[in-house]
Amino acid sequence: MIGEELTFVCCSDVAGKVRGKSFPSSDLKKRLKRGVGWTPTNVQITCFDAIADSRYGSFGDLVMIPDADTSVRLDFDDGGPAEQFVIGDIQETDGTPWECCTRSILSVALQRLRDVTGLELFAAFEHEFHFSDLDCPPGSAYTYSGFRVRRAFGEALMAAMHAGGIAPDTFMKEYGVDQYEVTMAPAEGVRAADNALIIKELVRVTAERLGSHASFTPLREPAGVGNGVHVHMSFRDAKGSPATYDPDGENGLSKVSSAFVAGILKYLENIVALTAPSVISYTRLTPHRWSAAYNNLGFRDREASVRICPVSDVSDVKMAAQYNFEFRAADAAASPYLQLAAIVHAGVQGVEEGLMAPVATEEDLSLLTPGELGERGIVRLPETLPAALERFAQSDVAKSWFPTNFANIYLDHKRGEIAFLDGKTMEEMCALYEQVY
Ligand code: GLU
Ligand code: MG
Repeated sequence: MIGEELTFVCCSDVAGKVRGKSFPSSDLKKRLKRGVGWTPTNVQITCFDAIADSRYGSFGDLVMIPDADTSVRLDFDDGGPAEQFVIGDIQETDGTPWECCTRSILSVALQRLRDVTGLELFAAFEHEFHFSDLDCPPGSAYTYSGFRVRRAFGEALMAAMHAGGIAPDTFMKEYGVDQYEVTMAPAEGVRAADNALIIKELVRVTAERLGSHASFTPLREPAGVGNGVHVHMSFRDAKGSPATYDPDGENGLSKVSSAFVAGILKYLENIVALTAPSVISYTRLTPHRWSAAYNNLGFRDREASVRICPVSDVSDVKMAAQYNFEFRAADAAASPYLQLAAIVHAGVQGVEEGLMAPVATEEDLSLLTPGELGERGIVRLPETLPAALERFAQSDVAKSWFPTNFANIYLDHKRGEIAFLDGKTMEEMCALYEQVY
């Protein structure tokens, strides 16, 4: 069959979907300048393809400009076409960033971090996902045999990651049914979120090439194990030295990290609609699921929204460089750019307000009464998506971190998603989300 290579230029939009257009790869040089045309109302296409209320209607034109540094070319050597995609920024036709370009929104957040603290953020997204075609026998959690069921996938994925410019960390059989996890090395700034976009596409395409289907849905079935996204973060100063750790700080956090973490915890209830944004996300964010149900800091506790991650004295990497904390109230229904932007803004807000991280919790918070939680300044996170959206809508501070129209556009988008699911049972919703993520 005749054929000419196509390159797909894409963005991760408000729905957390990777959308874009393709052009002949031989035109890449031209397209780096011209981009491809894009339509404002596309931002209101929900994950179910129904279009939510749009302030743009049928009007307006934008351009999506590929960023050559994010080009991925991946030849599986399996007789199929090479995968070729590149991440783009969405701009007005005069070249200014578009108000709903998630990648530009993240750049602004990182610039704020730089301006306020002089620090650069390093982040790594840890992803859980499952294969929809059941083939792992019961008793496979974390096992070598469970790993072997998907060894061919794992090995192809490692090669794909190298081709995609991502340094692999680990691949393993997770605890849930047919659930696996892939982790990566940290990357600086926007590249960390680029890597999250890229890895999910690499997982999907590697599964497809092997005749399988991978899903990142937050929750496969109501009583099942969730697919979480854990965002690991650390800082480096202008000289490139680690700036997250202080041996004398509470929990080992440096002053700026402590304020940053405190900001995340303070504003978590206002931003969780951006970090865990599906209707079913809120069933995952309940106690005893190793996810996050409260705005607490945990020390090596997997039920904390922000967890200080394990460091070890036996590692070849110095303590200060190992030190990182992870945000756990996240899932892959979100755009990683929006997720990270919301987290960074909340963190920088904490620095500006001179906050200090609380003492890490060490017990099961679900056993405390609302009064006991209140005394310790801990809040239960919103328990539904509408409640989470309401908290975002109510917070003038959180809304001010984004371009002027963004919050209303986001709220309308999510209301459209909720309306689409009206009348569906939890099982039906899980099945739908499994298909789209
Ligand atoms: N599956 C859990 C989640 O939904 C996380 C389990 C783990 O700590 O790896 O976040
Ligand atoms: Mg895990």
